[in-house]
Amino acid sequence: MTLTSTPAQTRRLATSIPGPRSRALMARTQGAVASGVATTLPVFAVRAGGGVVEDVDGNVLIDLGSGIAVTTVGASAPRVVEAVREQVAAFTHTCFMVTPYEGYVAVAEQLNRLTPGTHEKRSALFNSGAEAVENAVKIARTHTGRHAVVAFDHAYHGRTNLTMALTAKSMPYKHGFGPFAPEIYRAPLSYPYRDGLDGRTAAARAVEMIEKQVGLPAALIIEPVQGEGGFIVPAEGFLPALAEWCRINDVVFIADEVQTGFARTGAMFACEHEGVVPDLLVSAKGIAGGLPLSAVTGRAEIMNAAHAGGLGGTYGGNPIACAAALAAVETIEADGLIERARRIEQLMKDRLAGFQKAHRRIGEVRGRGAMIAVELVRPGTTEPDPGLAKALAAAAHSQGVIVLTCGTYGNVLRFLPPLSISDELLHDALDVLGSALNDAESARA
Ligand SMILES: *Cc1c(COP(=O)(O)O)cnc(C)c1O
Repeated sequence: MTLTSTPAQTRRLATSIPGPRSRALMARTQGAVASGVATTLPVFAVRAGGGVVEDVDGNVLIDLGSGIAVTTVGASAPRVVEAVREQVAAFTHTCFMVTPYEGYVAVAEQLNRLTPGTHEKRSALFNSGAEAVENAVKIARTHTGRHAVVAFDHAYHGRTNLTMALTAKSMPYKHGFGPFAPEIYRAPLSYPYRDGLDGRTAAARAVEMIEKQVGLPAALIIEPVQGEGGFIVPAEGFLPALAEWCRINDVVFIADEVQTGFARTGAMFACEHEGVVPDLLVSAKGIAGGLPLSAVTGRAEIMNAAHAGGLGGTYGGNPIACAAALAAVETIEADGLIERARRIEQLMKDRLAGFQKAHRRIGEVRGRGAMIAVELVRPGTTEPDPGLAKALAAAAHSQGVIVLTCGTYGNVLRFLPPLSISDELLHDALDVLGSALNDAESARA
């Protein structure tokens, strides 16, 4: 077995899930790893790629998680593997702030080209989504000379101190970890399934709250499709109205595209679906085929507001991660992965709409591109059913399908397949999910 070859693209259950080797590794995990680092599905990976993850027991699982929207081009995309191999042999690190290298500059150029808007842009590279969000806030504050930052209900922006403050949900992200950074305010989101408001009305509600309770902030930060909060797509017109209010008032509009960026939603960036041009755009997750890299890209005059030496970090824009990012961008463009994400949306929404007709437990099917979710409710109500989400995820896991849950109420089942997955694997995974829904229905009837 060569560890670099992509596993065969079919689901295979060699043992029960998790198998004996994974169970043994989980026992070691409990003796060695802090218990605060939890695991969704305790199978230990040996290989992954295309649309599957192979585990230490020889099970091959269908990947509808992409390591949380990271391996958009696949977990062993050939161009990424080759680019990393070449770069790691050349040099692993010099620190861009000490002796720079071309890869960093090339990634900045690609980001400036690919992000929405034709204005003059600059980029800065970091390691994680949270770190990039922190830097976007630093930049917005120094540019405006103001302090307040407005985030939204159901928001997720990371686990560092400032990004915990920006994040809405207490358990598990914030509980016991305060005090949090000051001058963060929370505005109401547009959540069409639950508030029934059109986009303009929901935006007016948010703006009124901001003007009355905050005044003019430095920045407003929002995920164009919320990720951890439940794959919430705001009503049409909500994002453009907020962006317009920011423009008129000189408030920096920050799009957190950490989860939605790099073809995930059927556009290079999710802001494009409504023609929104953010002042700053934060990207990470899907940027580099699995290597840790993140970025802030935006208007040159805002990005250049920070003094020399004010931005950076030891590892930010590591050369191996940059090589991987260039290969990931090439893969997205050469392999037509934006189109592929749209096709995945169609396939998944068609199948899930069928399930929704048959099961009154699916309140809504939503999402964009290969970022699709079902919100689960008690029959005939909109009351969240987190127990059902948990049961369906467990059933899918036991059948070799990796799915994740999310949502403020924990009642959303979310699907984030790599764009390298085949239609056959998607159908197989959806068949598993359909059976799990049938079983759950008859068990509760
Ligand atoms: C995952 C995520 C983050 C945090 O990224 P990390 O790399 O985990 O720090 C921030 N914002 C959004 C929208 C995310 O989905």
